[in-house]
Amino acid sequence: KNFASDQEPKWCPGCGDHAILQQIKNVLPELGVAPENIVFVSGIGCSSRLPYYLATYGVHGIHGRALPMATGLKVARPDLSVWVGTGDGDALSIGGNHFIHTLRRNPDLNVLLFNNEIYGLTKGQYSPTSKIGLRTVTSPSGVIDHPFNTAALTIGSGGSFFARAFDRDGKFLRSILQRAALHRGTSLVEIYQNCPIFNNAAFEAFATPENKASNTIYVEQDKPFVFGKDKNRGIMLDGFKPVVVDLDKDEFSTSDLWIHDEKDINKASILARFADDEALPRPFGVFYAEERVTYEDALSQQIRDAQKNACGTLEELLKGENSYEIK
Ligand code: SF4
Repeated sequence: KNFASDQEPKWCPGCGDHAILQQIKNVLPELGVAPENIVFVSGIGCSSRLPYYLATYGVHGIHGRALPMATGLKVARPDLSVWVGTGDGDALSIGGNHFIHTLRRNPDLNVLLFNNEIYGLTKGQYSPTSKIGLRTVTSPSGVIDHPFNTAALTIGSGGSFFARAFDRDGKFLRSILQRAALHRGTSLVEIYQNCPIFNNAAFEAFATPENKASNTIYVEQDKPFVFGKDKNRGIMLDGFKPVVVDLDKDEFSTSDLWIHDEKDINKASILARFADDEALPRPFGVFYAEERVTYEDALSQQIRDAQKNACGTLEELLKGENSYEIK
């Protein structure tokens, strides 16, 4: 089934959103869910045009409010596959409050956060993830706000799933979207997305084959952190501090290499902090995945319990002959 709608994307030529849309269209048929049972909810921004371009149901909502709308939908219709398309401004600034509370509530949503470190739709204001020093129309002398670290914010807010992917690495992005879809709970996928118009090459350090080899690691469950052109470097932990080691020269046992465990929140928290240190490679992949009750399941259970425990008819209740006792 082709999940493309009849709408032509209005994104600028070369925008990373096109590549992300393509991978979403590749993954949706693999879910085995009919288009009429999938809903894409968005807020405002370039990324939030996403629902127009998919032949599923969609809601293009108001700025920053995609997550509460999606939560309400999932609670009312838990049978639907609910996705959210949002950006760094929409999710982390205007919708910042909803972001942290959605993560701790853990409704079963797949949240795709297109992070281009800029407001594109409104023509280039700095966003909550813009790097310090970036000159924009609203920061002519350079950004002085410390940027949000999306991974650390997700884990710190009690999120049950965090992964990072990249618009230009289609195969990898597709595999991460599959993982997010399989996770029960709020899957937060941060996608580095190039905005060639207002913040071009923000992620160039991880883009070219040469840069990619020396600056990125692809995190895999139960595998050591090995990266580099010839796979000749790895990561060890010195206490809680990650240290880059040369596999050929440094003296250590390969068993000292840091093995990733995506259920380990302490390791995930350290991994999240790699983005704060330019000397460390940038991790991509699933940092953290925890099985936890979803918001809609907990709420449904509570309603069932209330129905079971509330004895008596409505008439009796109105007469005050019976009352509902909260247990
Ligand atoms: Fe993409 Fe930037 Fe154009 Fe928006 S302004 S569509 S993010 S290139």
